[in-house]
Amino acid sequence: MQKAKLKECIACGKEVRPLSPFCRQCSQPQGSAVVIWLPVLFGVVLLAAYLAFCLYGITLCR
Ligand SMILES: [Zn+2]
Repeated sequence: MQKAKLKECIACGKEVRPLSPFCRQCSQPQGSAVVIWLPVLFGVVLLAAYLAFCLYGITLCR
């Protein structure tokens, strides 16, 4: 049994922890686009929720 699954850096090939989005050696963002897009998606969802609440508030006031 392996202790922890380590993946290799896509740029320098050094071992990188699976949960770290960046390589510690060369600070290269690691492969999965999910890591990069998740904060962006979160921001978009937050903005959409904010706009929805604003529209909801406007409809309530009328
Ligand atoms: Zn690296």
